[in-house]
Amino acid sequence: MARKMLIDGELRTEDSVGVEGQYDFDLFVIGAGSGGVRASRTSAGFGAKVAICELPFHPISSEANGGVGGTCVIRGCVPKKILVYGASFRGELEDAKSYGWEYGEKLEFNWKQLLHNKTQEITRLNGVYKKLLSGSGVTMIEGEGKITGAHEVEVSCPDGLKQLYTAKHILIATGSRAQRVNIPGQELAITSDEALSVEDLPKHAVILGGGYIAVEFASIWRGMGATVDLFYRKELPLRGFDDEMRVVVAKNLEGRGIRLHPNTNLSELSKTENGIKVITDHGDEIIADAVLFATGRSPNTKRLNLEAVGVEVDRIGAVKVDEYSQTTVPSIWAIGDVTNRMNLTPVALMEGTYFSKTVFGGQPTKPDYNYIPCAVFCIPPLSVVGLSEQEAVKQCKGDVLVFTSTFNPMKNTISGRQEKSIMKLLVDAETDKVIGASMCGPDAPEIMQGIAIALKCGATKAQFDSTVGIHPSAAEEFVTMRTLTRRVTAGGKPRTNL
Ligand SMILES: Cc1cc2nc3c(=O)[nH]c(=O)nc-3n(C[C@H](O)[C@H](O)[C@H](O)COP(=O)(O)OP(=O)(O)OC[C@H]3O[C@@H](n4cnc5c(N)ncnc54)[C@H](O)[C@@H]3O)c2cc1C
Repeated sequence: MARKMLIDGELRTEDSVGVEGQYDFDLFVIGAGSGGVRASRTSAGFGAKVAICELPFHPISSEANGGVGGTCVIRGCVPKKILVYGASFRGELEDAKSYGWEYGEKLEFNWKQLLHNKTQEITRLNGVYKKLLSGSGVTMIEGEGKITGAHEVEVSCPDGLKQLYTAKHILIATGSRAQRVNIPGQELAITSDEALSVEDLPKHAVILGGGYIAVEFASIWRGMGATVDLFYRKELPLRGFDDEMRVVVAKNLEGRGIRLHPNTNLSELSKTENGIKVITDHGDEIIADAVLFATGRSPNTKRLNLEAVGVEVDRIGAVKVDEYSQTTVPSIWAIGDVTNRMNLTPVALMEGTYFSKTVFGGQPTKPDYNYIPCAVFCIPPLSVVGLSEQEAVKQCKGDVLVFTSTFNPMKNTISGRQEKSIMKLLVDAETDKVIGASMCGPDAPEIMQGIAIALKCGATKAQFDSTVGIHPSAAEEFVTMRTLTRRVTAGGKPRTNL
C-alpha cells in the first residue's frame, strides 16, 4: 500500500497528517452521485481543495461498479424517465387515431433501439459530470473509498493498488443500493438496476413492491406491451402518499391493463422450462419471464469501515447526522440517500449545497425539508407537495378543508380514453393556508413544481382563488376549486375511499 502518495507527486510525512493546513485536501468526498458531485463543486467554488472518489462506470451497480453521476443519472431518475417516455407513446398512439392519425394495424416497438439510445445518453451524461468536476478543479480518483481515520480515506483502485489520502473533512455520499427479498429462488429476480438494462423486453413480468419504483416499472413494461402482475403487501400501492390519490393510481394502473394483487407477497421463485415459476403466499402460481424486486433500498455503508472510526449508523445502516449533516465524528459528514432522510435527487443536491455553505462558505445552513414536491412517474403520473389528508388531519390543530376536482381531461373527450384526472388542495381552516396539494393526471409533475413555490411562500386558499387561470389547461383547476368537498374536524378521520 502506498502511504501518503499525493496527487501532485508530493510526499508528506506521517507527522504532518492531522495538522491544520497539512492535509492532502480540504475535502475528500466518497461517491460521485447527485449529492457528492454537487458538494464537491460548490465546496471548490468556495476555494476548497477537493478530491472525490467513485467506482468505475457500469449501468448495473455492484460493489465494484458505479460511475460518476451516480444512481440518478446512470440507473435511476434519468434512464427511468427515458423509458417512461418510451412507454407513453403507446397510449398517445392509441389516442392519436381519434385525432385523425392513421397507421397500419401492427405497431412495432423496438426495445433494443431504445436500450441502445438510453445507454448512449447515460454514457454522455457520465462524461458531462466528469467534465463538470474537472472544470471546477476537483481531483477525481477512480476506486472504492473506505474511511481509515477521522481524516483519512483509503482508496482501492481498479488495478488493485491502495492509496491513502488525508483531508480536513470527509464527506460520505455513497447513496443506496437495491435490496432483495430473502425467499427461495431470489437470485432469479432482478432489481431496478438490471430492469433498466435487460437485453430482452419481458413478455410477462411480475413485480413485487408497492413503492414508486414498482408502479413506475409496471407502467413502463405495460406501456411497452408486456403483461404485468404487480404484487404488494398493503391494500393499496404507494404507502405514505395521500390515500385518495393511492386509490386513483390503483384504478389507473388497472385501467391500463396492469393486474394488481394487493395484500399479497411472493414466497418462492423457481426456474422451469417455460420461465420463472412464481408462487405467492396465497399459494397461487404464475409463470413469468422476468421478476422484479422493487422492495426498497439500503444505504451503502457496509464496506466503509464506519464502526471502526466511530461514525454511528442506525438500525438499517444509514449514517446518523445532525441538522447540518455532521456525523458523530466532527470531521466526517454525510449527505444524500446514505443518510436515509428523504431519498430524492433534489434533496441530495440541497444537502450537498448546504454542507458546502456550512463548512466552506461561512454560512451554516440547515436543509429545509418543508414543502418538498415529488412525483411518481407512473402513467399518468402522480405529483404531490406538502401534507397528505391523513397527515394534515393529524398535524392541524383545527379543521382541515378539503377541495377536490375530478374531471375528464380535454384530450380524452375526443380520444374517448376513460381516465379521469384528480386534483386536491388541503387547507388549514384556521389560517386559510394551503398545506397540501396533489394531482394525478397528465403533466402533474410539471404543474406541481409551480404549486410548490406557492406553498413554500405560505399561499392561502384566498390567494389561490384570486389567481387567474390559464385557459384551456388542466392546471387552471387548481385556482378554480371554489366548492368545499368536505371539512374534516380536528381529530376526525380523513376520507380514504378504501
Ligand atoms: C430506479 C430509480 C428511480 C429513481 N427516480 C427518481 C426520481 O424520479 N426522482 C428523484 O428525485 N429521485 C429518484 N431516485 C432516487 C435518486 O436517484 C437518489 O435519491 C439520488 O441518486 C441520491 O443521490 P446520492 O448522491 O445520495 O447517491 P447516489 O446518486 O446513489 O450516488 C452514490 C455514489 O456513490 C458511489 N459509491 C458507493 N460506495 C462507494 C465507495 N465505497 N467508494 C466510491 N464510490 C462509492 C456509487 O457508485 C454512486 O455513484 C430514483 C432511484 C432509483 C433507484
